[in-house]
Amino acid sequence: MKVLAILYQGGEAATNEPRLLGTVENKLGIQQWLESQGHEFIVSSSKEGPDSDFQKHIVDAEILITTPFHPGYLTRELMEKAKNLKICITAGVGSDHIDLDAAVDHNIQVLEVSGSNVVSVAEHVMMSVLLLVSEIARNAFDLEGKVVGTLGAGRIGYRVLQRLQPFNCKELLYYDYSPLPAAAAESVGARRVEDLKEFVSQCDLVTINCPLHEGTRGLINADLLKHFKKGAWIVNTARGAICDKDAIAAALASGQINGYAGDVWNVQPAPKDHIWRTMKNHLGGGNGMVPHYSGTTLDAQARYANGTKTILENYLQNRPQEPQNIIVGDGRYESKAYGQR
Ligand code: NAD
Repeated sequence: MKVLAILYQGGEAATNEPRLLGTVENKLGIQQWLESQGHEFIVSSSKEGPDSDFQKHIVDAEILITTPFHPGYLTRELMEKAKNLKICITAGVGSDHIDLDAAVDHNIQVLEVSGSNVVSVAEHVMMSVLLLVSEIARNAFDLEGKVVGTLGAGRIGYRVLQRLQPFNCKELLYYDYSPLPAAAAESVGARRVEDLKEFVSQCDLVTINCPLHEGTRGLINADLLKHFKKGAWIVNTARGAICDKDAIAAALASGQINGYAGDVWNVQPAPKDHIWRTMKNHLGGGNGMVPHYSGTTLDAQARYANGTKTILENYLQNRPQEPQNIIVGDGRYESKAYGQR
């Protein structure tokens, strides 16, 4: 069986640090295990254009492993060429780099390692929140007394709410089409706002924690930004394309928002001239962008590498997969997180 993995280059760091499992060098720690069973395991970071290893090997691979950090974008067109492909495994959380509707049509399963890096991301969100709010002197504030809302209150959004609790915010809000169980909402003291414009208009800071799908692509656009509180902050560790990049840069320059931070970009790696690399507020700050790494702490890498192996074992031994990991199963969406259907 041919297994293709598109991972990122770790270079010398990965050679010296075997716990950097998500790299081309360390191959999720599964090379020997797969090859000892007679499977062919191709690992590469080359993913763009017709001559890339991704496009060369996808045509006869049965299993594709990718990560959201250095995503191999599996389009409908590529899927049509991938005649043997049966299963795509995301080593991490967030499978929007796979055309999920096309996977449904082609009866290709899509699984991810749910929960594997949600703590890592929630901690990064807290760091970014504090970074934006507590700039220096004339643009520095306390988080205490502010209204903070999460757009998406799933595994990460809920953990962010939990971590915000000790900061004595004025109010914690959430916007999600799936309401939190009453006891969970009560335990973090979060109130649900059902209208998106109303939600953003009440928040001093919005943290975005929902998947990218047709209902969230470009959701934070010029029109919605007008409804934000003037001078609000935005933290987006979910997916870059949920925000319109030019509208964000313009809102930051005009003062409609005071800061924007996150680790996700609409295309990865981000082009050198991506405006989020250099955008600033009128005081020359307010930019907390970093490369996509929040979900790839060493703890997270151990969990998503193990989880990938478990999904592979289940597939190879024809055992059922853990339901929470299945995004697309037998020709249909199994997850409610990638849009309301
Ligand atoms: P999850 O499935 O547990 O929760 C997602 C929540 O978003 C669900 O409650 C869902 O109902 C909600 N949602 C979906 N569409 C929505 C919409 N239109 N409006 C409001 N809410 C909506 O997922 P999670 O584990 O919390 O992860 C969320 C996302 O975070 C992932 O899909 C991924 O894109 C991103 N992520 C980023 C990193 C990183 O390294 N930066 C790592 C992990 C996950």
